[in-house]
Amino acid sequence: MDRFTLKGGALHCEDVALQAIAREVGTPVYVYSAKMFREAAQAFRGGLVDAGVHDAHLAYAIKANPNIAVLKVLAAEGFGADVVSAGEMNRALAAGMPAADIVFSGVGKTRGELIAALDAGIGQFNLELEEEGEVLADLAAARGITAPAVLRVNPDVDAGTHAKISTGRKENKFGIPISEAVAMYARLAGRPGLDLKGVAIHIGSQLSDLAPLEAAYVRVGELVAELRAAGHTIARVDLGGGLGVPYKVGEVMPSAAAFGQMVARVTKEWGVTLMFEPGRRIAGSAGVLVTEVVWVKPGAVNPYIIVDAAMNDLARPALYDAWHDFQAVVPTGNRMIANIAGPVCETGDTFAMGREIDEVASGDLAVFRTAGAYGATMASTYNSRSLVPEVLVEDGRYAVVADRITPETILAAERVPDWL
Ligand SMILES: *Cc1c(COP(=O)(O)O)cnc(C)c1O
Repeated sequence: MDRFTLKGGALHCEDVALQAIAREVGTPVYVYSAKMFREAAQAFRGGLVDAGVHDAHLAYAIKANPNIAVLKVLAAEGFGADVVSAGEMNRALAAGMPAADIVFSGVGKTRGELIAALDAGIGQFNLELEEEGEVLADLAAARGITAPAVLRVNPDVDAGTHAKISTGRKENKFGIPISEAVAMYARLAGRPGLDLKGVAIHIGSQLSDLAPLEAAYVRVGELVAELRAAGHTIARVDLGGGLGVPYKVGEVMPSAAAFGQMVARVTKEWGVTLMFEPGRRIAGSAGVLVTEVVWVKPGAVNPYIIVDAAMNDLARPALYDAWHDFQAVVPTGNRMIANIAGPVCETGDTFAMGREIDEVASGDLAVFRTAGAYGATMASTYNSRSLVPEVLVEDGRYAVVADRITPETILAAERVPDWL
């Protein structure tokens, strides 16, 4: 359920007025609802369980929102983590997630990262290429251990999403071609140091349709049968993440129930432990970016609402032409047509053009909705702006869960060489 609602005419997160947070912490600031993370996690699991998929392992893709307080919330829901760097792995461990519940994905794991993950005893390595499997096997064997792993295959399915977040087509950098999987599996499965348990896929993000997922899962099912026919024991299949969230009022995404039923139908005969790596679906709706209107600047066609948040705080519009609903914190009831842009010195720093929005004026607070995933985690300090802070709300209380990192702190980490 949506927990960013108007109470007494002002937008709240759960029972906390966003005005109160803006006053104390300043803007821009990300605000998260702890309940919405919990509810999204429970809904995802519930969709599977209700369809009869009882023993799935859920690994939250922490790149979506790696804040340690968020990880704590999800660890309490029984989620492990899908990580793509040693930094993310260390966050998951710091949040108390058991090493055995950590999956290490990513096309560029370094040897140093493989060693760190072996030493930590993580539960699964998702191999992206044969040489990675060979190196991992040797590193593990040298330590007298075996590395639990699966082979990530590329099913060559068009996820029907934005090209920059599509990962399952043959020309993408991810996974090994599914046509080569059986031969490669046979070569790797025999290696000491490697405990090859099955296969993984992840075809892309912000999927609004179950059909491409189902097509990919069906191909994986066929591969599992081929691998078994070749004599391999297939105990695990990792079905990745990718389920979308609605970014526009009225947009409808596949429900957790429909997803669970599709999974149950396709995987019925597989006899494996299923793993999932949802990111956006768990975190996306649970956050907003609170911003203040700096100026309303007349424009050639429509006025520009210049807000104090920018592409360095929320990169998705600049990166993917993504839409984030914009809402006044204290709406007047009037509407206007406007462009919305940040202060950064490039035209890419534009959140919306010619959009109908709540009427706002200089000094007003507003939010960009559905900013809980791929928001703060992608923030930078471009234009010597601060690294945006994060606040977690639960019921009537809130806490700053990431400080604002100021340009002065960044400057203090820079050095002028002594020859200058
Ligand atoms: C990014 C990613 C995910 C999460 O994707 P969402 O669309 O956020 O669910 C899962 N698995 C892998 C391997 C990823 O790279």
